[in-house]
Amino acid sequence: MNATHITYILKPGELSLKGGNREGFERVLMRNLRKLLALRGLEGSGTRAEGGGGRFFVSCPPEAAPRVEDALNHLFGISGWAGTRSCEKRVESLLAACVDEGTELYGRGMRSFKVEARRTDKTFPLDSYGIRVRAGDAVREAVPGLVVDVRSPQAVIQVEIRERAYVYSMSRPGLRGLPVGTAGRGLLLLSGGIDSPVAGFRMASRGMGLDAVYFHAFPYTSEEARQKVLRLAEILAAYTLGIRLWTVGFTEVQQRIKAGVREEWTTVMLRMAMMEAAEKLARRTGAKCLVTGDSLSQVASQTVENLSCAESLTRLPVLRPLVGADKEEIIRLARTIGTYETSILPYEDCCVLFSPAHPVLRGGVDEAVGYYRQLDLAGEIDRALKNGARH
Ligand code: ATP
Ligand code: MG
Repeated sequence: MNATHITYILKPGELSLKGGNREGFERVLMRNLRKLLALRGLEGSGTRAEGGGGRFFVSCPPEAAPRVEDALNHLFGISGWAGTRSCEKRVESLLAACVDEGTELYGRGMRSFKVEARRTDKTFPLDSYGIRVRAGDAVREAVPGLVVDVRSPQAVIQVEIRERAYVYSMSRPGLRGLPVGTAGRGLLLLSGGIDSPVAGFRMASRGMGLDAVYFHAFPYTSEEARQKVLRLAEILAAYTLGIRLWTVGFTEVQQRIKAGVREEWTTVMLRMAMMEAAEKLARRTGAKCLVTGDSLSQVASQTVENLSCAESLTRLPVLRPLVGADKEEIIRLARTIGTYETSILPYEDCCVLFSPAHPVLRGGVDEAVGYYRQLDLAGEIDRALKNGARH
């Protein structure tokens, strides 16, 4: 790698546990990393990603560093990453780089450290034990406030002797999880709310690729509400390496529901209709499950009884990664992902067509299925899907 370049080292997360599958996971991780770099216009900029066998590196010219770091912050499957100090393979240069690293760690409030070393180039005059001892001593002497603690150090200075010498400490947290594309694809029911984008993020963090569907009730819901969902999908897509989003007009379906059942049942019926439509779409697109942002008992439609009604006619698994999460936790994650500010923009949801004053709270599945069948929505749902738009 070029000496004037910045080199980043990436620490793979859970995928290192995957035994025989590890190589496959690493291949997907590399593919995703290269794609994230390419999406930031870094192809042909002198930026290179390489790795395998549990080690991943990106090197880039200094001006590309902010975009590389942004890419690393969107990569599932790494537990951490760090910029390295790279230097020539001479003992004095290596010790000086370790002292610089120690000084920086001290400046960031660290008070204890240890050194770990790896040597792929066996011609380097010190072996890894020798590196640990010499570098430890050099840092201790140069930075008196930093003491060696081999058991539970606050910081670990890592040394790698490869084609050059690299010194770093794993300072930046990664997104963890598994590389997107290693766990099939799911269809996310994406509303304009806070929860569903976070639910999609959670599934993506388990390696799942995402398609998404948004049901709107134009003209009762506005074009702005639709734009908001497009924007949310775009933010999510930066982590999932693209999302195919369908927007489906549900006004007729909703009107039929409104006309056909008692008011208190309309919300449950709408959920069932969304599930039916989503399942049909998933079968066309090859998604293996449906994903929603439901969180138990958050609102009337999310009691365990009403969740059962919603999914009672669906054969695909319905995954609800937030079912046990509380709102604060969800909001915290939404802020981290970057969806929160968009989610709270004040545009109405399609449920505005009917928000019954006293919705059924504990719907019985048999009763719900009975009403739902009477509504005979299949034709209307097929029409809605046919007229839906893909983005
Ligand atoms: P969110 O914040 O995700 O909108 P919510 O707390 O508002 O959720 P509900 O309105 O009951 O709760 O929606 C529950 C889930 O149903 C949503 O998380 C989403 O997965 C799905 N959903 C609701 N409305 C829509 C919609 N218009 N289009 C697609 N999916 C929807
Ligand atoms: Mg909502």
